[in-house]
Amino acid sequence: MTALFPTYKRFDLSVERASGTVVEDTEGKTYLDFGAGIGVCNLGHRHPDVQQALEYQLNHYWHVSNLYHNPIQEKVAEALTQHSSGDQVFFCNSGTEANEAAIKLARKATGKHNIISFEKSFHGRTFGSMAATGQEKIHTGFGPMPEGFSYVPFNNIDAVKQAIDHETAAVMLEVIQGEGGLHIADPEFVKEVERVCREHGALVIIDEVQTGIGRTGRAFAYQHYGISPDIITSAKGLANGVPVGAMIAKHSLQDAFGPGSHAATFGGNPLAMAAAEAVLQHVFQDDFLQAVMEKGAYLLEQLTACIGELPVVSFIRGKGLMIGIECNQDVSSMVGLLMEKGLLVLSAGANVIRLLPPLTVSYKEIDTAVQLMKDVLSAETVYQ
Ligand SMILES: *Cc1c(COP(=O)(O)O)cnc(C)c1O
Repeated sequence: MTALFPTYKRFDLSVERASGTVVEDTEGKTYLDFGAGIGVCNLGHRHPDVQQALEYQLNHYWHVSNLYHNPIQEKVAEALTQHSSGDQVFFCNSGTEANEAAIKLARKATGKHNIISFEKSFHGRTFGSMAATGQEKIHTGFGPMPEGFSYVPFNNIDAVKQAIDHETAAVMLEVIQGEGGLHIADPEFVKEVERVCREHGALVIIDEVQTGIGRTGRAFAYQHYGISPDIITSAKGLANGVPVGAMIAKHSLQDAFGPGSHAATFGGNPLAMAAAEAVLQHVFQDDFLQAVMEKGAYLLEQLTACIGELPVVSFIRGKGLMIGIECNQDVSSMVGLLMEKGLLVLSAGANVIRLLPPLTVSYKEIDTAVQLMKDVLSAETVYQ
C-alpha cells in the first residue's frame, strides 16, 4: 500500500535522474522525454544556466516575505511585461493560482461577475479555475461550483456573441487547448472574441499556462493572433520545473489589486524567480523562438510523412513544439507502449497523443522520436 492519495494513475517508471531531453529510471533505462515533464521543462531537464542561477540563489536567500522588496521579482516581471501586452505582474505558485488571480482581478476591476469560457477548456483544479474549466468530469462530486461561469463551444463566435452581455466580466480562453485535445483557435475567431469583449466592456483573459514561454514559437501563443489581452496567465514553463505562476495584466487594472486585495506567501519565491530569470533570458530571444518554430515545423512534417497515413492516425496538428496526434481510439495503451520503447509522451483528452518536447530538443532526438512513434503506431498490437 502507498501512503499517497491515488489521485494519479501512474505509469511504472521511477526517475533516478534527468538531463536535457533524457530521463533515466532507477533501473538505468533511458527515455526521451517528449512531454518535458508535463510541459514544464521548456529548456530541458536541469538546464546548466538554470541550475547555476538556482545554486547562486541557494547561497544567498531562499525566502523573504512580500512585505519587503525582492529585486529578482522586478527583473522577471520586467521580462514578462516587455514581451507581452501586460504591464504589471502578480506572482503565485501554479497555473490554477494564476487563473484564480485573473478571475478575481477581472471581477474586482469590472465590478461584474460573469466569466465565459469554453467547452473542453482546462484552467485548473481550485474552485475558481475549476468552475472556469468547461469539462463536467472535472466538476463531478465537488459542487456546488461558484456562480457566474458559463461555457460555449470553442471556435464558435456566434455562441460567444449570444452568451456575452454587459454583465460579463471576462472571456477566458486558451488559444490552443492543451489538456482538452490540442484544439487550435481560428485566427478570425480570436480577433472577434477580442472585438466583442471590447464592445461589451469585458476583459480578455488568455490562459497561457501551457502555451506560453516559447512553447509555440512565440513568447506567448496569443501573439500569433495579433490581439492584446488584458490579462495573461503563465506557469508551467516559466521556471523550468521550480513551482511558479504569474498573472500579467494591463496597467489600467492595477488599482483593483491594491495593498491587501490579494496575496500569496510563496508567490515570487526567490528560487523560482532565479530560475525564471534564467529561463526568460534564453526563451525570449528572437533566434531561440525562431529555432522553436523551425524544429516544430520539422517535427510536424516528419510526423505527417511517417505516421500520417497509418490507419490509427486521424489528424496531426500543432504550433511550434506543441503537437497533437489525434487517433481513432483511446491512446493510453499507445502511450504505455511508447514508454516501453523509451519515448515519454502525454495524452490530451482520450484520443490525442500530445507532444511537448523541451524547446532545446535536437533534430537527432526528433528523428529518433518519430521513428519510435512509427514503430509503435504501425505495430499490430495497436489495432487489437
Ligand atoms: C496545467 C494547466 C493549468 C493548471 O496548472 P497547475 O499548475 O496544475 O495548477 C491551467 N491552465 C492550463 C492551460 C494548463 O495547461
